[in-house]
Amino acid sequence: PEESRAVIIIFGGSGDLASRKLYPALFNLYRRGVLAEHFAVIGTARRPWTDDHYHEVVENAVAGDDVDRDQAKAFAQHFFYQSHDVTDADHYITLKNLAAKLDDQYVTGGNRIFYMAMAPDFFETIASHLKSEHLLTERGFNRLIIEKPFGHDYASAKELNDSLTATFDDDQIFRIDHYLGKEMIQNLLAFRFDNAIFEGVWNKDYIDNIQITLSEAVGVEERAGYYEKAGALRDMVQNHVMQVLSYLTMPKPKTFTANDILTAKDQVFAALKPYDLATAKENFVRAQYASAEVDGDQVLGYRQEEGVAADSQTATFVAGKIMLDMPQWEGVPVYIRTGKRLTRKSTQLTLTFEPVTSPLFNRETGSQPDSLTIYIEPSEGYSLQLNGKALGTGFNIEPDELRYRHDPEAAAAAPEAYERLINNVLEGDQTNFTHWSELSASWRFIDAIQAAWSQETEMPTYPAATMGPQAAFDLLARDGRQWFWQP
Ligand code: NAD
Repeated sequence: PEESRAVIIIFGGSGDLASRKLYPALFNLYRRGVLAEHFAVIGTARRPWTDDHYHEVVENAVAGDDVDRDQAKAFAQHFFYQSHDVTDADHYITLKNLAAKLDDQYVTGGNRIFYMAMAPDFFETIASHLKSEHLLTERGFNRLIIEKPFGHDYASAKELNDSLTATFDDDQIFRIDHYLGKEMIQNLLAFRFDNAIFEGVWNKDYIDNIQITLSEAVGVEERAGYYEKAGALRDMVQNHVMQVLSYLTMPKPKTFTANDILTAKDQVFAALKPYDLATAKENFVRAQYASAEVDGDQVLGYRQEEGVAADSQTATFVAGKIMLDMPQWEGVPVYIRTGKRLTRKSTQLTLTFEPVTSPLFNRETGSQPDSLTIYIEPSEGYSLQLNGKALGTGFNIEPDELRYRHDPEAAAAAPEAYERLINNVLEGDQTNFTHWSELSASWRFIDAIQAAWSQETEMPTYPAATMGPQAAFDLLARDGRQWFWQP
């Protein structure tokens, strides 16, 4: 690969995300030669660390059985630590001077990447200081990477976006949704548009319904401070679920360039059928996990978790029905669900086809509608469930499964989402990032549901290690359907 040149400034260099995701991703880019001689990373955070200590942090973050320690050391030498209070203007001058010095030292061509990897409350402050203290360079490119959450409703997202666009042009802003960096999400483009057997049937004439499940087995862990204010709807649906939905349903893009893919996705976001207060309550279900025994241990209910209010109204589970106002999907419900403390961790998507309309076959003979399931994680692959004749003298129908999974070892060796996404930023490719048009449409949709929920006082619960409350099953049963995946 061609070597990239840049000074990368990470705000939040001592944070969890930086150590768990960003340093390993940068190291893998280094091992592949995308980053080589001409790059430097400035980590900033409040703590007064020395460069030596920072090198240790970076080396530990990338350590592993397959890691050459000398290579990790050489990599860490490109890292510089700057203690920094994001609200202090003087600190930005220090940062600017250090960046300029490293730019000369490493011959990075004036390229800058600013990575906002700290609490979202600071995103606007940082952006405005980058402008007022003139941190953007004249010579090379300036790119901003920004983590989620992007606002907590439409109004705050707009305010954040306005403050970013006051400093950066839209084509310099890379809004992270790490789902877009996942192998199997990218694969949806190949799967949908390079298979004649699916391309022609990917519409309302052949598909009865679509199901999207993003389930987590863990509880809120140490993130109650953030999660209490977010909840499953904002934390997972507004971003990841909506992005997955758009990849599943967008019309065929003209080309696989950022602009054409965005144009195709925008058609889906524009088509989200909005709910009002009454219809939101009918079509979206929320709940909190309650204490239950899991594998012999009693796990805490959400309201008992540390940092969670005893009367918390934060939903840890959401299920909903989404309709799209576009001709190819008219009348096809997209059922979505996501939550914490569910039975198992899995992201999987199922498209159920229309049943055959022939008197020859029916449910009594064992005939079931075909369905296609796409596994995003932890396993990666597809299953196609078809009807076939059962062995024997009779003519009973039974489901057969065509199954493919990526080899787990090969899948584990493939680039992780953050590696792919940072690589995209170095190349200036915005395809796998969220655009403002998508964000604004999805926030408006989400706000209506949140508004309906804020009128409710009862918070339904579900026992930990189940797939949510009964209402999530009733949501489909009422339409004569059921969840395809019932672990
Ligand atoms: P963290 O709390 O571990 O790290 C926050 C960082 O910000 C620390 O380095 C801290 O020193 C620094 N910081 C805080 N206040 C500061 C100030 N006033 N001045 C200078 N530095 C300050 O948080 P995190 O988990 O690394 O998350 C960072 C961002 O990434 C958040 O936006 C989060 O939503 C997002 N994110 C995190 C994860 C994850 O797995 N941790 C996943 C997805 C998104």
